Amino acid sequence: MTDSGRSAAVVIGKDGLAALVEVLVERGRTVIGPTARDGAIVLAELASAEQLPYGWGVELEAGHYRLRPREDGMAFAHSAGPQSWKTYLHPQRVRQWSAERGPGGEVTLRADSDPAPSYAFLGVRPCDLRAIAIQDRVLTGGTYADPAYRDRRDGAFLVVVECTDPGATCFCVSMGTGPGVGEGDDEGYDLALTEVLDDAGHRFWARAGSAEGAEVLALLPRQQGLGTVAAEATATAARESVTAAAGRMGRSMPPVSLQRLMAGSLDAKRWDDVAARCLTCGNCTMACPTCFCTTTEDVTDLTGDHAERWSTWDSCFDLDFSHLHGGPVRESARSRYRQWLTHKLGTWHDQFGSSGCVGCGRCIVWCPVGIDITEEAAALHAETWSMLESPEGGARP
Ligand code: SF4
Ligand code: SF4
Repeated sequence: MTDSGRSAAVVIGKDGLAALVEVLVERGRTVIGPTARDGAIVLAELASAEQLPYGWGVELEAGHYRLRPREDGMAFAHSAGPQSWKTYLHPQRVRQWSAERGPGGEVTLRADSDPAPSYAFLGVRPCDLRAIAIQDRVLTGGTYADPAYRDRRDGAFLVVVECTDPGATCFCVSMGTGPGVGEGDDEGYDLALTEVLDDAGHRFWARAGSAEGAEVLALLPRQQGLGTVAAEATATAARESVTAAAGRMGRSMPPVSLQRLMAGSLDAKRWDDVAARCLTCGNCTMACPTCFCTTTEDVTDLTGDHAERWSTWDSCFDLDFSHLHGGPVRESARSRYRQWLTHKLGTWHDQFGSSGCVGCGRCIVWCPVGIDITEEAAALHAETWSMLESPEGGARP
């Protein structure tokens, strides 16, 4: 055990990964993780580790996603899929309350108070760990905290898996959010795993990041037949894989202050160019792990005796999103795309103290016309940066 009470790193095999799911289920957790289904790697409840996408990788490009088989049988050699963890922590549709009118006309209101599931998320990517931290700040910090989000989030057990095979649309390195995680109690995960496959076999370098993580780790069978030296070699191989992954990022952001770039680009011609391609469908905001906007919907049944209020995801690309007295404030596609990008990369810093982008690349993959956030930032940079340059400028803050 370490000074903090957490157990030291250990090496587990595929049987250890299977035991991890069993232990979490036995502890009453609803285990959510990646699985290959419907032509994609999706997040779903796992009854066993056999449902993990062993032997599946992905092929990503702007507006393009394909599953592809892998001969090596790795479980986590794929990058972000269409969903993110907000599907569970900040669900797309949540009932807030319901109301019933009785025979005498009296109205009874009921708050929606189903207990939050006790989640365990298996396979959280480092970029998505940072995205969860961003949603934590947005949805549990400040004046307008969401207690239902807090309940779902407080009990969640996070198993991070470091990235060793980034996709062509990934750019976490240039956002400082991946492909690895740090060590320590304040990293925000309970367990961290790195998948290793070499001549010594298929295994996982596992370490705890919390007291509960250490408890769970202590219950897992160690990889058999590995001596101390081989265990150290596994740690070295894991670190080298993550370092190599950092050198294989498919994309990157311009190496400048994106906050400053956005603030200085409001009148750029590039907004007209992207607006001519953007369908304002909002797919990018639905797929983004940090986008959090919601709207409320009231519905009644045909009798009018039963009413419900629902909170549902909303998008700044929706014309109604900025509808104030007299009509929408942002009528054009130009103004809506500009709002999304300048908020995500610029004013998010002012509001929440960080970027709103973690470099996962989902918005690039799931945009039906292949609009690429890194390409748009690079074009804005090329058009406006020379005007913004100053002796003290240029460095990312
Ligand atoms: S803006 Fe795009 S790349 Fe950045 S976090 Fe959202 S989906 Fe991922
Ligand atoms: S950028 Fe792409 S995904 Fe986003 S609203 Fe426009 S067309 Fe849709």
